[in-house]
Amino acid sequence: MSAGDNAPDEFGLIAQLFAPLAAGFPGALGLTDDAAFIPAEPGFDTVATMDAMVAGVHFLPDDPPDLVARKLIRVNLSDLAAKGAEPRLIMLAAAFPQGVGQDWLRRFGQGLAEDVAAFGIALIGGDTVSTPGPLTLTLTALGRIAAGRGLLRSGAKAGDQIWLSGSLGDSALGLKVLQGELTGLSAGHSDFLANRYRLPSPRVTLGPRLVGLAHAGMDVSDGLVQDLGHICRASGVGAVIHVSDLPLSEAARAALARDQSLLASVLAGGDDYELLFTVPDQAAAALRDLSDELGLALAPFGRIVAANGKAPVTVIGADGREMAVGKGGWRHFSGHREQGDGGWSD
Ligand SMILES: [Mg+2]
Repeated sequence: MSAGDNAPDEFGLIAQLFAPLAAGFPGALGLTDDAAFIPAEPGFDTVATMDAMVAGVHFLPDDPPDLVARKLIRVNLSDLAAKGAEPRLIMLAAAFPQGVGQDWLRRFGQGLAEDVAAFGIALIGGDTVSTPGPLTLTLTALGRIAAGRGLLRSGAKAGDQIWLSGSLGDSALGLKVLQGELTGLSAGHSDFLANRYRLPSPRVTLGPRLVGLAHAGMDVSDGLVQDLGHICRASGVGAVIHVSDLPLSEAARAALARDQSLLASVLAGGDDYELLFTVPDQAAAALRDLSDELGLALAPFGRIVAANGKAPVTVIGADGREMAVGKGGWRHFSGHREQGDGGWSD
């Protein structure tokens, strides 16, 4: 952990909030040295990913700080899970604007501590600085997997079934709830959707279990249609998905029953952090057993097909006819749009 410029009381902060989070990993040296030392493990690949979150773009400025911290960890662990890797270590770079008080920092630190414990990981370093811009948090996560066994986007084969963990669209609908754009639901459904936006559940147990079963995998962060398109382009294939087979929560079904147009948010919204993967037919039985074992819904909702030169993803509506869907892409609430195909490692 290096000293930043003019960061709020940095050394005290690091000692109080961050150093205990390094306790599980001796190579972090208690965050007292210039860098951390990670012993190489023969037979394993280290899997690395990084995601940044900017206040007003990726989270609401008044979101609870502990939930911001936990979401920051979880979106990164979701990327590791999508590659089949087990999470191990994290590094944090935080740029704080003026006015971030000790109370905010303490609650942020509590959120980090909660998920470091929950996921059995350690914070091994990072940096804190001050910024004239918005609060910006960047986390690097490192995981491990047996060498050469990682799940890639590029492995999908024509004929594969397309599966998703959990349920789709809750987070995009939850953001609408929090912004007052989706009203009239029961308090229970509204709370469920809002919580799915604020605190995703990275599928860290499922991901490693998909190694050997799935041909290709990724997590859904920018919206199902866009992310499935990434798999299709990387694999040189197309996909046909069926709206009537999409795994939806009870709350999302209630929302759609009130307003069918919300289907666009379900298909092309974002922040789901569920695992999207393709498997051969013979893997289906093992996946149903795995779903029972983990107590986690896993559902098929489409097929990989040969590339046809058109848009890679074809969406079939409940009436059996092809639907025209927007270009996909998660439009963040500030109007910001992810660059290109969503960065290096969305
Ligand atoms: Mg991803």
